[in-house]
Amino acid sequence: MRPVGYNRQLVRCPVRILLLSDIHANLEALDACLANAPSFDLVVNLGDIVGYGASPNEVADHSRAIGTTFVRGNHDKAATGGMELEDFNPMAAAAALWTRNELTPENLQWLRALPHGPVPLPNFPDVQLVHGSPNDEDEYVVSLGDALAPLITLSIPLTFFGHTHLQGGFFANGSSADGFRPEYKTVGQAESVPLQLKTSARYLVNPGSVGQPRDGDWRAAFALFDTDAMIVHFHRTPYNLKSAQDRIFDARLPARLATRLAAGR
Ligand code: ZN
Repeated sequence: MRPVGYNRQLVRCPVRILLLSDIHANLEALDACLANAPSFDLVVNLGDIVGYGASPNEVADHSRAIGTTFVRGNHDKAATGGMELEDFNPMAAAAALWTRNELTPENLQWLRALPHGPVPLPNFPDVQLVHGSPNDEDEYVVSLGDALAPLITLSIPLTFFGHTHLQGGFFANGSSADGFRPEYKTVGQAESVPLQLKTSARYLVNPGSVGQPRDGDWRAAFALFDTDAMIVHFHRTPYNLKSAQDRIFDARLPARLATRLAAGR
């Protein structure tokens, strides 16, 4: 039997990992995250690199240049013809078709080849990466009820996930389990909130969405995992919202894709 909980003995070397998810072709938000991130050793990208936003090639190029470990998202699949668009709402489907038309052949091929989760984190056997849920890459882990089954059954104690565009996550420790959200003090400044991981607990952690947050906070979200200190630092950073919105309007994508960015919904 594997030990329950995150076993730091298995961590080979201290590394600071930048966690990016759900960039959604928002170049301004990605640039702000990279500009505001503390120093990091490697980048993990949890998928939905494209879809919704108006800079799919720039964001794919940038992600490829900085990223080391990737998981595909449902929008990456949709934009590259890897899934039917029936399950998408009309706005998402319109954006997926627009994106497919915009992407260079090289970026289309790269996105199409991204691996589905769970993807192991190289050199860290107690960490895995998924877009949706560990059980289904397209499943949304929104509530504690959604999180309980994976938390209880997983053999891997720490899972980073995306897909919901909600920064925070869930833990199970002995007989207790709960959700958590970082609590920020401002609505417009760069901020960070640490979460100290306990060795006895299991976690599902979402770094939040870089390019289309839906937790009522318009700022771009990301996280930094310090494997030595066992701390996840949640971050929010303001970005050039107007420029991201103008690109969406100029591309004649659905206007709601621009206006929703201001509300973080
Ligand atoms: Zn997404």
